[in-house]
Amino acid sequence: MTGTPTFGRVALIGLGLIGSSIARAVKAQHLADELVATDNSPAVRARAREIALADRIADTNADAATGADIVIACVPVGACGAVAKDIAAHLKPGAIVSDVGSVKHAVLKDMAGQLPAHVHFIPAHPVAGTEQSGPDSGFAELFVNRWCILTPPDDAAPDAVERLRSFWRALGANVETMGAEHHDLVLAITSHLPHLIAYTIVGTADELEGVTESEVLKFSAGGFRDFTRIAASDPTMWRDVFLNNKDAVLEMLGTFQEDLSKLTRAIRRGDGEALFDHFSRTRAIRRGILDIGQDAASADFGRPHSGLPGKS
Ligand code: NAP
Repeated sequence: MTGTPTFGRVALIGLGLIGSSIARAVKAQHLADELVATDNSPAVRARAREIALADRIADTNADAATGADIVIACVPVGACGAVAKDIAAHLKPGAIVSDVGSVKHAVLKDMAGQLPAHVHFIPAHPVAGTEQSGPDSGFAELFVNRWCILTPPDDAAPDAVERLRSFWRALGANVETMGAEHHDLVLAITSHLPHLIAYTIVGTADELEGVTESEVLKFSAGGFRDFTRIAASDPTMWRDVFLNNKDAVLEMLGTFQEDLSKLTRAIRRGDGEALFDHFSRTRAIRRGILDIGQDAASADFGRPHSGLPGKS
């Protein structure tokens, strides 16, 4: 056990895929003296008690946060401000307050102003997930060998940032730090736009005339199937992502549409060389992802579970 960091009392607010995965990993790694958790859904709280997701399931966000050393909001991006408001008066001096939202600038704006000056607010985004939701969908290995991006405000205390970094490293993640706006731009192209394209293509196939629904399903292994998995992602979470990362997504969407127009023109003109060059370039990008170990059997979605890292 030597070398294992302990983080005192850890509080998790929101027990869906991400919150319940953190809970399972914290328990598996014995990272907290006490793990307290809550959710605004009574059904989720009842289920969390049933499967003993934490040492204690609190009935309110305020109760969960009281006396905690680290509080992590694991709720949709649009709910982060409300959580900060609920817990603000109950936080102990020196506590670290964080989140896991897929958008960072909006979360920073919504939470920072609500929190007292005597806590350390350090937003975070574990870049790991599946298309599942709810307390039963989480697993302790979700973050292993995935990146967690911290976006500390300029005046964040370095030792608090370091503490949160070691928390995520203990969950198996690699940790990187960057500005919130840069995070939102990077994630717009690597995550938000791909989800938007998947949501679009699955909707388009659903409305097609001339190709039956049963044909779409039967021949889905031709590529469509991979999009359906992404397009099954949680509607609340993704609504909030697009509402809160509007500028970066629109900027990337503009560039994407220009590139799509170039490929459309190449197809219309029968320009095989342009198509071949483009596909060769993208194949090299895929190989680059494999080379740095960020591939999983079926993207990040439904990847097989690997073990948590050793504890020393
Ligand atoms: P999820 O499975 O839908 O769970 C979210 C939970 O938070 C739900 O049980 C929800 O309850 C609860 N909640 C909502 N508002 C609340 C509030 N004000 N107070 C307390 N609990 C509240 O979502 P998730 O997939 O874990 O995502 C959570 C966060 O992680 C999001 O910000 C998302 O952007 C981020 N994230 C997700 C992924 C992913 O792949 N899923 C990956 C990285 C980061 P109700 O259902 O009753 O509202």
